[in-house]
Formats: sequence, structure tokens, C-alpha cells
Amino acid sequence: MRYEEPVFRPPSEAHSLIIQATIGCSHNACTFCGMYKGKRFRIRDIEEVKEDILMSKDYYGSVRRIFLADGNALAMPTEDLLEILNFAYTVYPELERVSAYAGPKDLLEKSDEELRLLYENGLKLLYLGVETGDDELLREIRKGVNADEMVEAGLKAVRNGITLSVTVLIGLGGKEGSYRHAKETAKVINRMKPHYTAALTLMLVPGTPLYKKAKMGLFHPLGKLETLQELRWLIEDINCKTVFRSNHASNYLPIRGDLPEDKEEILKLIDYSMKNPRILRPEFLRGL
Ligand code: SF4
Repeated sequence: MRYEEPVFRPPSEAHSLIIQATIGCSHNACTFCGMYKGKRFRIRDIEEVKEDILMSKDYYGSVRRIFLADGNALAMPTEDLLEILNFAYTVYPELERVSAYAGPKDLLEKSDEELRLLYENGLKLLYLGVETGDDELLREIRKGVNADEMVEAGLKAVRNGITLSVTVLIGLGGKEGSYRHAKETAKVINRMKPHYTAALTLMLVPGTPLYKKAKMGLFHPLGKLETLQELRWLIEDINCKTVFRSNHASNYLPIRGDLPEDKEEILKLIDYSMKNPRILRPEFLRGL
């Protein structure tokens, strides 16, 4: 397979075939993110993408899930995405789903008709980085949208049939912004009602603006127990139906539960781990 490294995928795509439809991230401006800093964004030639799919057939034989990388494959023109989807389902008739990362602006720029068409042609799941619901923080991290726009982006995917998995970033507001970040993020989740909500915990990446800010003493990262307190503030306010996970390697405490039904159990687990921090993932085992 031909990959332009580094290639990232969500934890739940561990067994999926990764096909790079785009290289890098078309936004590439978030102050905490170093994922695609070394790549200039481009949309790959559609024939190259098809060649990769054919090559993978020789190698894997059968594939049930495909994840379209990189940062936001949804930035691709709809007709190109449709061609890739149709080709992938032709090469792999047993294919059950195709998924991709989506930036909020990509979703806002596509019409309902386009998203419905993409869903009907097999784009079943999108991962949206919400990060925070706090307007001030969204502006600071240069996410490119405010909370209302983020909610509309998520709702647009859901109302057109696409399963929505969102990520929120624990610790993003630092010590001073922790409570507000948690509470505003819960509000956005409740409005958006994503099928899945995944929490990641902030790790400062060298070279990023947020890392530099922390080095200058202008951003105060949370300690281990403070991240759990923030997670607690967030979960206690989520009232919509969503599968909540914190199984990403950046987290200190892996959680999986159905909200709101499992809320009390999850809160008890957080309380227990705050009193018994030895059960938390050690710092050296955390990763992005
Ligand atoms: S967080 Fe997502 S949208 Fe922001 S720069 Fe990184 S990959 Fe792009």
C-alpha cells in the first residue's frame, strides 16, 4: 500500500482498511494539533485513490470497513467522493461501511442533498472534532467555527442519516477554563445528540502554538486529577442519548458506557479513581 506518513485513524478504525483520499488537513490551524503540520493539504488524484483500492484487494482479499484519511476527506468534492465510494463498494461487495474525519466547515459547506447522497452511497460514519463547546475557547484554539456552527455541522450529518462520532478534548481550557469548557461542551453535546462521544485528554505537542504558550507560562495544563474532575463536570451534564468512550491512549481512565443510563456508574468510577489514582494509566503509557 502507498501511504504518505504519518497516517492517523480513530481507535475504532483499528481493523479498517485505510485509504488516503486527501493528504493533510485543509484547516490545519488548530493551536493544539500537530497531526498534519508537516503536510501541505491536497486532494489526491481520483485515479490514484482507485489504484490504491485495487492494490489493497490483492493484498487483503476481503474488506468490511474502509476509513478515508487524512484529516478531513469530506473536503473532497462530492462527485469525487461518490466515485470513490462506488468504486470501493464494487471492488468489495461485502463492504459494510466507509467512514472519514470531517471538519465542521466541510459539513457546513455541503448541502443536505449532498450529504444524503453520500450516505446513500455508503458513507455511513463521520468523526467530527468538536473539542469544546465554549465559544471563547473555540476562537482561541482557532477551530474556525463557533458553538452554534459546530452544532449545526453535527446535526446536518445526523439528519441525513450519517452516524456521528464526536471527540471532545479534556484539558483544552487549562486550569482557568476547565469548568466552563466542561459545562459548555456538555451543552453542545446535548444539542447535537451524536451517536458516539469520545473524550481525549490534551497532550501538548512540541511545535504547536499551545505548547509554546504553555512554555511561556501563559497556559496552565491540568494535572491528572484535575482532568478527572473536568471529565466528571462534563459527564454529569450530558443528558442526551450517546455512547460515551474514553478509550483513546491519551486518557488516564478508560470509560465506556451508554449515557444517560450509565451516568451514575461512570461518575462512581471517576470518584473511585480520584481517590485511588494508582489505577490510572501512567503518564509514560499515554500517547496520541
Ligand atoms: S484538529 Fe482536526 S481540524 Fe484542527 S488542525 Fe488538527 S486535523 Fe485539522
